[in-house]
Amino acid sequence: MNVYDSQRMQDVLAPAGYVAIDNAENADLVIINTCHIREKAVEKVYSELGRYRDLKAQRAALGLEMKIAVAGCVGQAEGEEITRRMKSVDLVFGPQTYHRLPELLRQNEISRKAVIETEFSVADKFVGLAEEQVRHPTSRSVTAFLTIQEGCDKFCTFCVVPYTRGAEFSRPVVQIVEEAKKLAGQGVKELTLLGQNVNAYRGPSLNGTPSQLGTLINELSQISGIQRIRYMTSHPRDMSDDLIEAHGSNPKLMPYLHLPIQSGSNRVLKAMNRGHTTDEYLNVIERLRAACPSIALTSDFIVGFPGETDAEFDETLDLIRGINYASAFSFKYSPRPGTPAAENKKQIPEDVKSERLARLQNLLNAQQIAFNQTCVGLTLPVLVEKPGRQKGQMIGRSPYLQSVHLDLETEALGQIVNAKILAVGPNSLSGQYVPETQKGVTSI
Ligand code: SAH
Ligand code: SF4
Repeated sequence: MNVYDSQRMQDVLAPAGYVAIDNAENADLVIINTCHIREKAVEKVYSELGRYRDLKAQRAALGLEMKIAVAGCVGQAEGEEITRRMKSVDLVFGPQTYHRLPELLRQNEISRKAVIETEFSVADKFVGLAEEQVRHPTSRSVTAFLTIQEGCDKFCTFCVVPYTRGAEFSRPVVQIVEEAKKLAGQGVKELTLLGQNVNAYRGPSLNGTPSQLGTLINELSQISGIQRIRYMTSHPRDMSDDLIEAHGSNPKLMPYLHLPIQSGSNRVLKAMNRGHTTDEYLNVIERLRAACPSIALTSDFIVGFPGETDAEFDETLDLIRGINYASAFSFKYSPRPGTPAAENKKQIPEDVKSERLARLQNLLNAQQIAFNQTCVGLTLPVLVEKPGRQKGQMIGRSPYLQSVHLDLETEALGQIVNAKILAVGPNSLSGQYVPETQKGVTSI
């Protein structure tokens, strides 16, 4: 979502004459778009800010200006603390105010004082951004993110999202369809619908009734040009029937789902306030696999949640063994100020967390390699996204979001081609282009 937000910041700054550049030495404005989900992310922001403070001083010595802005959830959560710790910062704003960036810059210009803006106005933000997009469509690649939902009302006890992104908000269907059409017009072939709880989507449809995600996906798949649709991140509690059905019936909806469970222990899930049990999660997966047998699953895991015992951690390993994930993200529990779990007295020592994380990641890596191996010999449709490092090589994505290297010319950019998967590397697959006319290939 931060990638999407950063692109929108470029859109709103374009009329003021700003263009994105690659190196900060020549920048008039540096915006750090931040994430607050784990502690490491916050520390990274402060160390980056130290680097830009030095650059700012170097530019000042040459008589040049550099404004420094902190955007995103660290800005939202830390507010004035940032300008207190880092005097060189000119602007701090949260994820719901960046559409007002030109105005905030002007305020700073006039007052010559740091401007802090952390109010919530999600609906206003999207209206403002939509108007800006009509005037200044930015060119994009063949894949694009599209935020359809923001915020969260679930309050898992470890998580800052409900505090930094605010309450659940779903954009109206018409607004989303309009943005998707615009993207399709710019050559986008694959849409990834975004939301902190994307499948809790309940945006108003034309007649005012709330629309569910499955219905929205079916509507978006009517747009000619849009060939593939994905969505993330989903919550197990919100996997409604219409969405599961869409996985069985809509060929544009990719057979791939990121569905975080966090832990395989029911006691830990309860303490996390996840609102579902392992059985309920497994039942969702069973229904998904029945609707779409080729579906690949991924998840997020937290190890070392306060009070997690060895036996409870083993339950997570068992659950993973039973499911077979295509890939997954895993993290050590990071206490976030202001969240209930951070107050829990039974914090797990760092070395125990590290040891558990290593074991969990070994298992998940082995599953990822095994999943990739099952693709060898298959012919998969690959959306060609960009040129590879070598001449005559292109990189695309399989339906399962794997990177696929192919020997192809640049004309193939934006096309979905058939590729026979020949080999599996650590992070990607390599395949051979199979011309349409060649028969007798196994396809999924
Ligand atoms: N809404 C999604 C997750 C959004 S946050 C869901 O409910 O699944 C992305 C991921 O960050 C989470 O799935 C979780 O695994 C991780 N995460 C969030 N807070 C964390 C914390 N305090 N410590 C470690 N990992 C955390
Ligand atoms: Fe955070 Fe996801 Fe839980 Fe919401 S549902 S509080 S975003 S982990």
